[in-house]
Amino acid sequence: DRDPQVQPEALPDDRDRALRPQMLDDFVGQAAAKANLRIFIQSARSRGETMDHTLFHGPPGLGKTTLAQIMARELGVGFRMTSGPVLAKAGDLAAILTNLERSDVLFIDEIHRLNPAVEEVLYPALEDYELDLVIGEGPAARTVRIELQPFTLVGATTRLGLLTTPLRDRFGIPTRLEFYTEDELNLIVTRNAEKLGVQVQGEGAREIARRARGTPRIAGRLLRRVVDFAVVEGGGVVSRDLADNALTRLGVDGLGLDSADRRYLRLIAESYQGGPVGIETLSAALSESRDALEEVIEPYLLQQGLIQRTPRGRMLAQRAWDHLGLVAPKPPGQ
Ligand code: ADP
Repeated sequence: DRDPQVQPEALPDDRDRALRPQMLDDFVGQAAAKANLRIFIQSARSRGETMDHTLFHGPPGLGKTTLAQIMARELGVGFRMTSGPVLAKAGDLAAILTNLERSDVLFIDEIHRLNPAVEEVLYPALEDYELDLVIGEGPAARTVRIELQPFTLVGATTRLGLLTTPLRDRFGIPTRLEFYTEDELNLIVTRNAEKLGVQVQGEGAREIARRARGTPRIAGRLLRRVVDFAVVEGGGVVSRDLADNALTRLGVDGLGLDSADRRYLRLIAESYQGGPVGIETLSAALSESRDALEEVIEPYLLQQGLIQRTPRGRMLAQRAWDHLGLVAPKPPGQ
């Protein structure tokens, strides 16, 4: 299992809520996505219409939920939140849909995990704001049609590829979120430190930003843990040295990789001579689900150029050998 500090899927605690950006202007990074959203929000507002359905996809902790909440606030409408796995039956979704008010935002997290029967109910709701419910069973069964208020569905997924095509096609605004740059994370850490009222020196914030795996949620979590070290051992001040020392003790290395990332890389290096090795093999050897590898671990390693995905499996890039301090075996015949 991954260290709790760097688990991007852990439940947000109360302090998370206080730190969440409230409006588009407070939201750091994702410049392209933000610029488009600003236009679509403004257009919907000035036409007095319901905003088109929006899909956010990308690795966990990059701000999908935050952007959905910001959209509702900027549109001046209500916000309802649920998730794919929670909606077990068609009736669960029907109950939520019939309670929506005009132009509300309904956020469905992990939308790739919707039960197919629930997804069927969602289609006409998305397209025509109508609900077809089957009442009764056997020969007595009949369908009733219920009119819904127009609403905006905001879906979030870490796995675009697992969405069914019909569902994917119903989103007018598909938006991909990218890992954040060090400068963007630096700004997020600095702002969060201010909001938390803790003293973080410029170089201390930068060190946390550099090692936050491109992910605001991890930056927030690492900041809090580093502050714990500062309070107990650093007179409450986060300097670069204190941050460096604390992060190292938390198992976060110079590239921001944690123990699970390093285990993954070391396995390919030491047991498979750098690969290629199939994802199922890695999953079995690491006792991690394939989903966890593909959603949480691999995206950042790919983005950092540490691994490559090939048709025959995963391979270590030279940068990973250098990072692990190992020498890549010579390809056969050389
Ligand atoms: P996701 O839904 O993609 O998993 P969240 O929206 O829950 O991610 O964001 C995770 C955490 O990171 C939240 O605490 C949020 O406040 C913070 N966060 C995300 N994006 C930003 C950002 N652009 N600026 C500041 N904080 C952010």
